[in-house]
Order: sequence, then C-alpha cells, then structure tokens
Amino acid sequence: MIKVLSIAGSDPSSGAGIQADLKIFQALGAFGMAVPAALTVQNSRGVSSLEPVSPNMVSKQLDAIFADIQPDAIKTGMLLTRQNVLAVAKTVKRFKLGSLIIDPVLRSSSGKTLLKRDAVTVLKKHLFPLALLVTPNIPETEALTGLRIRTEKDMDQAAVKLLDMGPSFVLIKGGHGHGQATDTLYGRKTIVSFSTKRRNGEFHGTGCALSSAITVFIARGYSVEKAVEKAKQFVNNLLKSAKRVGKGKARYFQF
Ligand code: PLP
Repeated sequence: MIKVLSIAGSDPSSGAGIQADLKIFQALGAFGMAVPAALTVQNSRGVSSLEPVSPNMVSKQLDAIFADIQPDAIKTGMLLTRQNVLAVAKTVKRFKLGSLIIDPVLRSSSGKTLLKRDAVTVLKKHLFPLALLVTPNIPETEALTGLRIRTEKDMDQAAVKLLDMGPSFVLIKGGHGHGQATDTLYGRKTIVSFSTKRRNGEFHGTGCALSSAITVFIARGYSVEKAVEKAKQFVNNLLKSAKRVGKGKARYFQF
C-alpha cells in the first residue's frame, strides 16, 4: 500500500487544499493522510477569511503520524505562517523524511495571501533544501526569485536561482504559447517541457491537484520526470470534466 501525506490549508468547499489532495490521493489508489496547517473560509467565489493552525498543533499532528506511519511521499501546500513552515521543516528533518514535494502556494486566485511575507524567506531557507521537487507557477517563481519572467531565458535563469536554494528539481508551471499550457521541469542535468492543450476558464485547485498527483507517482517509485508527465496527463483529464458546483465561476474537479 502506498501512503502519502498532505500538509496544507483546509478548503471547506473542498476544491483545493487538504480536502482536494485527499480526493486526488484516493482517485489514484493511494492511502491519503492530511495535516491542516491553516483553515480558510472559502467557496467557489473565493477565500473570505483565514487563520493558521498553531505551530504546536502542526508539530504534534506530524509527530503522531511519523511515530506510527511512514509516508512514502509528502507534499506541502498552504502553510500560511513562518512558524508553521519552521514546524514542518524541523519535523521533516528530524524524521529524515525523503520525497518531499513543495507546492509553494503564495496567493489564492481571488487574491488572498496564503503565505505571509516573512514566511517566504523561511520557506526558501529551511524547507526548499529538504525538497525533492518545488512546483511554483510563474507569479510564484517571480516572487520567490525576484526576477521578472517574460521569456524562456528568464524562466531558465529563475530555475537556476531556485535550484540554488536546494531542491533537486523545480517544475515551473504555466508557460504560454500556441494554445498550449507548458510546464518545464528543471533538474541539475535535465530540462524537460510538458505541454497540454490550454483550457480557458477558471479552475479551482489545479495546482493542488497537480502536486498531489505528482506525490502519488513519486511514492509509487516513478522518476520525477515520469511522475510529472503522468500527473500532468491525469490533471488534464480532470480539467476536461471540471464543473461549476456553486454560484462562482470557478470550476471544480469531479471524480
Ligand atoms: N485554498 C487553499 C487551502 C489552497 O491550498 C489553495 C491553493 O493551493 C487555494 C485555496 C487556491 O486555490 P485556487 O487559486 O486554485 O482557487
């Protein structure tokens, strides 16, 4: 049995965050576990309020799991505060957990801050060095590196900067061109691009879904390159059948 863990925010409408991650884990046949690091109030119209889970409770939840169950891979999503980033980093280090996938969630599509400014520095300094893979989109890549990304060359430069922060691989999501959605995976010796048809409209939780699917494929023993390829195909299929479930425009994944 493959066991995977998500450490992220809670989305009560369950299109993103730990609830969505658990659905993806389930759909891909893994045993999913989830530690909430923050609570949000949100629905298909966006995030209206949020608060962190205390770092002490984050640490205790992680300790309880790791003292008992060894996940094959772990992903982090919305961590919100500096203290919670540190709590995760400390525990991951203490239990020498490999296969950490970081989705560096900074903002919701509706514009709410999901990682505070002082937490960004700590994420880069303390969590990135422990990561197998970090999966920023273009705005997150810009915020994390301080570089403006307009061209492919800019993206390559940003990837080098992110790799210098310590992760083994970086997946920059959301490159454009010719009606395609292109994500590019950078390793120390690899650059591979994955393209799928660009889909118009608003989708909720796409980043969460992709990083969760990657986490399952990594846990199954696929290489990072193969895991990203398979996860991208899986999410592309989910995009085809995504539907509006509430009054907002955002479409949610259906299983
Ligand atoms: N809420 C939570 C808890 C999240 O983790 C995320 C993204 O990772 C979001 C909201 C934002 O989702 P989106 O911008 O896809 O609507």
